[in-house]
Amino acid sequence: MNSKCSAMSMIEKDATQCNAPENKITQWRETPTKKILYAPKEETMILLGGLTNLQDKLIETALCSLSPNFIALPNPNLESFQKGKAFGNRGQCNPTYFTVGNLVKYLQELRDKQGLTTEEIVKKYALVTVGGCGPCRFGMYITEYKKALRDAGFDGFRITSIAQNKGIFQESDKEEDILDLSPKFFIILLKAIIIGDIINLLGYKMRPYEIEAGSVDKAMEACRVIVSKAFEQKTNLPKALWDCRKVLKKVKLNRLQPKAKILVMGEFWAAMTEGDGNYNLHRFLEAEGAECTPQPIINRLMLTFWEAEYKLKKIETLAVENGKKIDFSNVKSRLLIKMAKIAVKIHFGIYAKAIGLYNYEIPNMKKLATLGEQYYTLDCEGGEGHLEVAHLIESVKDNLSHLTISIKPFGCMPSSAVSDGVQSLVTSHYPSANFLSIETSGEGAANFYSRVQMALFKAKQAAIEEYEILNIPRNIPQKVHNYLYQPHNKKTGTAAQLIASLRD
Ligand code: SF4
Repeated sequence: MNSKCSAMSMIEKDATQCNAPENKITQWRETPTKKILYAPKEETMILLGGLTNLQDKLIETALCSLSPNFIALPNPNLESFQKGKAFGNRGQCNPTYFTVGNLVKYLQELRDKQGLTTEEIVKKYALVTVGGCGPCRFGMYITEYKKALRDAGFDGFRITSIAQNKGIFQESDKEEDILDLSPKFFIILLKAIIIGDIINLLGYKMRPYEIEAGSVDKAMEACRVIVSKAFEQKTNLPKALWDCRKVLKKVKLNRLQPKAKILVMGEFWAAMTEGDGNYNLHRFLEAEGAECTPQPIINRLMLTFWEAEYKLKKIETLAVENGKKIDFSNVKSRLLIKMAKIAVKIHFGIYAKAIGLYNYEIPNMKKLATLGEQYYTLDCEGGEGHLEVAHLIESVKDNLSHLTISIKPFGCMPSSAVSDGVQSLVTSHYPSANFLSIETSGEGAANFYSRVQMALFKAKQAAIEEYEILNIPRNIPQKVHNYLYQPHNKKTGTAAQLIASLRD
């Protein structure tokens, strides 16, 4: 904005004055204060991260099979959070502080521990993140990164983003020229995400029942190495997952322990991260004798496809209402979305079968939309939208968990509105729901844990009652302890499901 316009309040001044040709308004851009000669694309190291620990590592290896320049950032910790607070704007949400601070921390370590100069770092490194328009701060993450980096001494550090809602149909970042956002890039990225989801889901199903502490983590790490090699050597991924099955089969489990099943959901990052960002909630629950059901990334992907289809339907309905012709580019878009959805489901199915994850149902977005729309508009896109409400109702109706925890980051407006506001109405209509909405602020872990423990007590009781009410056969076949035995029935807890399956 020019100085004449900026000197006056937009409310007070005559808007036409600023639109006059002599006072041309230009788009504000966050540009470095001095010109920087950046390293060419082939020499630029691309930092990425922000998903689960396993997925970040798998993505790094998978993308390095295209070009050797990708580095996964370490998992954000409390130090990251403190750096985010020190260099970020006031009043940001918790995930912003953790992720922005994590990048600052990593760059500072490159400078202070590896001896690179600030200039070298700014010239040679860049971050790729996911961006998009949302009903919240998600839409301004890049600006927040740039502000914090400038204040931390890394002015001009390059950041590029992948649009959250465009999938493989992205435009290359011509302006920054850091990444080739080719279909090949996205296909490899998606494969790594899907495989990461599957191994993580198995880890959460197995870890609470391991006989030897740490054996599941060890097996999962071995699986990561096998899959990473397959990505590196461009060999057959289902075959690699079949080899992982052999590793997992060796882990000794005792699955007849009635443990509370906890559905962990809420704000995308806070519910998914495995570290200080949510006080290590998943591990805490497991240590307290529970089994977690996490939200895999594929759920978010399915929501993105659903949102795209929903939007197209609205456009077509409006066109018909206004007597306009159907735009055939919409028909093409619909077909592309359908094909992408089928491709993701097929890949998930093949990989899941190969490693031995059976009976996992990818969420049915139409069913969830129907469940959620009575309480939350379907028109709100960007975050989890109606999904959080729908998951709670589905969990109660289909007996999916003994406790549902919704994580809402401190400072997150959408999360507070849903978890504290809308869910209160839902729980009043579904009084059997054991629901806990809990805030993560980065500090105050003791308070967080004690609230989780209180809700967990009721869930544990429910799991024990569900199990003890069953007629437990005298001779229980050994197969119930094999992770490949995954019966599907109306019981909630794993132990109860296994016993019930013997009687079916
Ligand atoms: S949903 Fe909440 S926590 Fe997540 S980016 Fe938006 S404001 Fe932040």
